Amino acid sequence: MATETHCPYCSLQCGMRLAGRRVPEVQAWEEFPVNRGALCRKGWAAAGLYGSRERLTSPLVRDRESGEWSAVSWDDALDRVAAGIRAAQAAKGPDGVAVFGGGGLTNEKAYSLGKLARAALGTSQIDYNGRWCMSSAASAGIRAFGLDRGLPFPLADVEEADVLVLVGSNLAETMPPAARHLDRLRERGGRVVVIDPRRTPTADRADLVLQPVPGTDLALALGVLHLLVAAAAVDEDYLAARTTGWESVRDSVAGWWPERGERVTGIEAHELRALAAMLAGSPKVMVLTARGAEQHSTGSDTVLAWINVALALGMVGKRGAGYGCLTGQGNGQGGREHGQKADQLPGYRRIDDPAARAHVAGVWGVDPDTLPGPGRSAYELLDALGTDDGPSALLVMGSNIVVSAPNATHVTSRLEALDLLVVCDVVMSETAAIADVVLPVTQWAEETGTMTNLEGRVVLRQKAITPPSGVRSDLDVIAGLAARLSDVPFATDPEEVFAELGRASAGGPADYSSITYDRIRDEGGVFWGGERLFAETFAHVDGRARMYAVEHRGAAEVPCADYPVHLTTGRVLAQYQSGAQTRRTRALPDDGPFVELHPLLAGRLGVAAGDPVRVATRRGSMAAPARVVTTIRPDTVFVPFHWVGANRLTNDALDPASRMPEFKVCAASVASLLEEVAQRPSRDPVTHA
Ligand code: SF4
Repeated sequence: MATETHCPYCSLQCGMRLAGRRVPEVQAWEEFPVNRGALCRKGWAAAGLYGSRERLTSPLVRDRESGEWSAVSWDDALDRVAAGIRAAQAAKGPDGVAVFGGGGLTNEKAYSLGKLARAALGTSQIDYNGRWCMSSAASAGIRAFGLDRGLPFPLADVEEADVLVLVGSNLAETMPPAARHLDRLRERGGRVVVIDPRRTPTADRADLVLQPVPGTDLALALGVLHLLVAAAAVDEDYLAARTTGWESVRDSVAGWWPERGERVTGIEAHELRALAAMLAGSPKVMVLTARGAEQHSTGSDTVLAWINVALALGMVGKRGAGYGCLTGQGNGQGGREHGQKADQLPGYRRIDDPAARAHVAGVWGVDPDTLPGPGRSAYELLDALGTDDGPSALLVMGSNIVVSAPNATHVTSRLEALDLLVVCDVVMSETAAIADVVLPVTQWAEETGTMTNLEGRVVLRQKAITPPSGVRSDLDVIAGLAARLSDVPFATDPEEVFAELGRASAGGPADYSSITYDRIRDEGGVFWGGERLFAETFAHVDGRARMYAVEHRGAAEVPCADYPVHLTTGRVLAQYQSGAQTRRTRALPDDGPFVELHPLLAGRLGVAAGDPVRVATRRGSMAAPARVVTTIRPDTVFVPFHWVGANRLTNDALDPASRMPEFKVCAASVASLLEEVAQRPSRDPVTHA
């Protein structure tokens, strides 16, 4: 009999059935409302990693001198990790050990990991890779609405919009089953606007495509709002009744006339006017942002600027309209709610709030005064590893830092400076390969747990497959370490952990206390906070949304003589995040990295399609074959980030509010490697040098 469960990958958390416990087969689950049986190729191929010969099935320890790996028992491995943590904390105090989680971990794991750090280890040094994914939208949502839930409405509401503005989202390629909502919207006569420096497959479904200079989405929003004010298209009654701060926002956009917007964004004034006219005349406007707009050192303000547009039009809280963020990682939403973030306790509570500390400490059975305060954000934490003031031991769960961190060469050197690096993973990822101890864990449908999808819908990823012998769940690892290092009890049964999470989150902004596994099964998922938010009131004490006057600042790095083009990064359909799973799935094509550039730029460089090129930034370089396409701006190159290399290039400049690194734009140079390759004695394939 098939088991109803969910895809291991993105935030859509498509429902699927899995049949066969030994050789799993993915089948459609038509009744699940989010995807109605549709899956992208990653979902259909999800079972491919199961049974892989690369699967780790025994704890491994590495001898630093010889580099040799040895298999050890679980007790031995956990004892070594506990001893290393004790040594780090004896030398440096509680913050001598750090914990790094992931936005793909189940809610139960994210919660337990946060509890492990705060209650068992007493360290403030915990953060996770979701900081690099959704934190700018989260920060902006909290500031504007008092609450961060990526989509405050079901995804299907998209179909009801008259105009949908996608800012920095390649939805058709990153979550293809969601693209049907765009088709239905257009069948109804609605229109789609796509704003992206690359003309992606999503643009094929658009009525208006704008390709701004990377890093200028904020200026574009200011220019649009300027035109809406000039056209008297703002909803003054809504603004007066439901917001604060409008006057200063209105004044701040006064100088953003279209010609100035054109100079900054590269979008012609008549196109800006066309967009504004489209918005001004539409009863239902929906703005959705994604990583293209958010992964910037100005990402948080960029989101606020687009929220201002949605609020000025009186759209937020109206059905089929408003603002939302298209979360990326599988549990990007739940992963940022239950305590693996540096400043946070379960239920989206702040760790510096005395009442929150008392409540959570009560659930954990510890003295609130023993809980640490806020720690470092993800990049700042990694940057501090192995330094005099930083942790000397690190536990990594659900993250492949060596591939996914910005300025990755530097970050890798920080990992290598640790006294102890422990990685829990299913395969020997690039990060596991430099660890001291690798703990082989269960994955995906080998275990049960909840995920919270991009709509705030809590779903149950049920166990459907028997895990290989020798592996343990992350919950077992956490409990095993906690038992060695503290007397704080940790449950290992996911349903028990979820019930505890519910108690810990009760009364918080993200309150899961009324959600149970049975309710999720019966109701096809449960929205925390309700299906639709903000219809009557926002989550600030006075019930009003806050509008902030934000300024265009531009990218932290702009092209110059040495680095004359913009570099941007992103995803391809067949791969997911750092590729640790999808690159090992045979049914998914792994064509390796490439450098996408416009024919005008290629012509200037003397590069033809398939030629090897080197992309360099101030932080590093990589080589890959060229793809010459007319769909990218001539001043911009694109590299996918699923392979080692792209993030050696990216900029670690951080957003001041969200601490999000500027993954999406930096200054780069591009050069042909044709001559260099031709002069090699044997024509080596292009490598990620
Ligand atoms: Fe999985 Fe996302 Fe593809 Fe759905 S869209 S099948 S959740 S990767």
